[in-house]
Amino acid sequence: MITVIENAENPGSIRRAGEILKRGGLVAFPTETVYGLGANALDAEAAARIYAAKGRPSDNPLIVHIARMEDLSAVARNISHKAVLLAERFWPGPLTMIFEKTARVPYGTTGGLDTVAVRMPKDKVALAVIEAGGGFIAAPSANTSGRPSPTTAEHVAQDMNGRIDMILDGGPAGIGLESTIVDMSGEIPTILRPGYISREMLRETVGQVEVDQALIREDSGIRPKAPGMKYRHYAPKAELKIVEGSPEAVVRAINRYIEEGEKTGQKIGVIAGEESAGLYKGGLVKTIGKRADELSIARHLYGVLREFDELRVDRIYSEAFETPQMGAAIMNRLVKAAGHQIIKV
Ligand code: AMP
Ligand code: MG
Repeated sequence: MITVIENAENPGSIRRAGEILKRGGLVAFPTETVYGLGANALDAEAAARIYAAKGRPSDNPLIVHIARMEDLSAVARNISHKAVLLAERFWPGPLTMIFEKTARVPYGTTGGLDTVAVRMPKDKVALAVIEAGGGFIAAPSANTSGRPSPTTAEHVAQDMNGRIDMILDGGPAGIGLESTIVDMSGEIPTILRPGYISREMLRETVGQVEVDQALIREDSGIRPKAPGMKYRHYAPKAELKIVEGSPEAVVRAINRYIEEGEKTGQKIGVIAGEESAGLYKGGLVKTIGKRADELSIARHLYGVLREFDELRVDRIYSEAFETPQMGAAIMNRLVKAAGHQIIKV
């Protein structure tokens, strides 16, 4: 298959993307979180093509993207008052909500579940593509399953060239981490995946908000309610370890690991905040962003992991990034990328 790569600003590119989607094809497009790999969500065969292109396990359901509030009831049932309040405050935006599904949504889109995940993205290109494609677009992150999610069209091309019909290039994704997922099918809204919209922000709108126990104690063996959260995700090719402790102790420990690694001829990568990046002696140090600007850290995380893949480092050590609003989301992705390997110093 030949993958057409188009600038999203080219005249007619959105219309061409819509035509591909309407005939069951695959189009990757930018959203404000990460790049999505879109297919018609109401067509089980189109959805199946997403799983094939990504190598995604078939029990990992897709998020259905809509462009208009009035389309929600076509795919979701029993929409609670709390869900309406959250939609009014955070849509369009990086919030995904789980509802009971309607008969129009095939099980091929929901991984066999009777619930459906729905989001209305904010990105203008995303909204236009969804409308042009018929209004209901299933779109997981446009990466090969298990690799870091794509935050640029180049990342998408690295994984998907030759496997999908079209990539729309709309520049780098603004947030850089996937949406917050909240289960609205029970009485109390429950966070299944942390994201830009924090627990605090949700509480301000709907009061009590729980967090899936599987997220709080990730090594507890509790099964996550979002099936995708059980897989090793976002992983770079090299072994990644997170080093946690006081800033001085972390720098000291990572400098020791660099020295030990380089003595035996290993290439060592370091993921550091701008505040401490200059303190490392040796190694390939990548500055991920400023601790004081947590959005910059979120935006660069996946790109830095991909850069280390290209540099073929043997090991990567990362500082921890427990920032106020997005820290839960950043650390959730980083800990997964590290396969839970955390060194406390
Ligand atoms: P991605 O689109 O690649 O960011 O992945 C979508 C995430 O949403 C995965 O972790 C899925 O398990 C989760 N998800 C999608 N639909 C549902 C659902 N009906 N119930 C629970 N989690 C879901
Ligand atoms: Mg994904």
